[in-house]
Amino acid sequence: MTVLALLDGTIVDHTAPLLRVDDLAVQRGDGVFETIMVVDGRPRELGPHLERLARSAALLDMPPPDLAAWERCAQVVLDAWRGGREMALKLVYSRGVEGEGRPTAFAMGLPVGPETIRKRNEGLSVITLERGYAADLQERAPWLLLGAKTLSYAVNMAALRHAERNDAQEVIFTATDGTVLEGPTSTVVIAQGRTLRTPPPSSGILPGTTQGALFRAAEAAGWNTKVEPLRIEELWDTDGLWLVSSVRLITRVHTLDGKTLPDDEQRAALHREITELFESQYV
Ligand code: PLP
Repeated sequence: MTVLALLDGTIVDHTAPLLRVDDLAVQRGDGVFETIMVVDGRPRELGPHLERLARSAALLDMPPPDLAAWERCAQVVLDAWRGGREMALKLVYSRGVEGEGRPTAFAMGLPVGPETIRKRNEGLSVITLERGYAADLQERAPWLLLGAKTLSYAVNMAALRHAERNDAQEVIFTATDGTVLEGPTSTVVIAQGRTLRTPPPSSGILPGTTQGALFRAAEAAGWNTKVEPLRIEELWDTDGLWLVSSVRLITRVHTLDGKTLPDDEQRAALHREITELFESQYV
């Protein structure tokens, strides 16, 4: 089951041709996107996702997205969905055809893949990989579009294939100064006692909507939260390590760079607690 709607709310056949070959999304990956989790017809963190779409578009000097139109378009997809309880809602906003100055914009509803569900249930073996830039580069080099969720995910996907060739399923990117960045499609979160920590967006990573929602719920439940640089060595000394993102949710890391992380009843209980905290916001 796939639902495809144009920004004006027209539903179109997702198997029929839609994009021109000279669309800059096709030619250069020049555009931005968002992927939103929908459960029982309710989108999660829609506001933060739309805000991030607007921020990404601004970083690419694209016309500001009409957020009210995107909300209406998202609703069209939600109303037409006849699939399971969960849906991944993808918003795609490309620069459009060169010279025309008119972005291409559409929303898609897609089922959550079996691989994602397996990772959620079984946890992850993760390797750390160098991303090749300094954690303070974002401000000095805005043309690198660090912190924008662009359609150019070829590097991110290559990193995941590299992980698979090394018997892992996921990646944590690291900066040249030995700090932790993010996963190719996820945010890194650790627990140390009753404190949750995640690296700062100022290091050139995406501000995660899932991490934001988790920290909001955790603070309300009395946890401390810190958004601050995290050194690679610190990943080894945690009470919990997760990769979090909208559709994968809160996924536990059980193996890091080929070494199994401690696994006992206390850690299993912590994982349940964190997952329940996160989910409790959406019941
Ligand atoms: N970082 C990157 C590079 C991502 O692609 C994503 C999501 O796809 C995230 C972090 C997590 O963001 P969110 O929690 O908003 O899905």
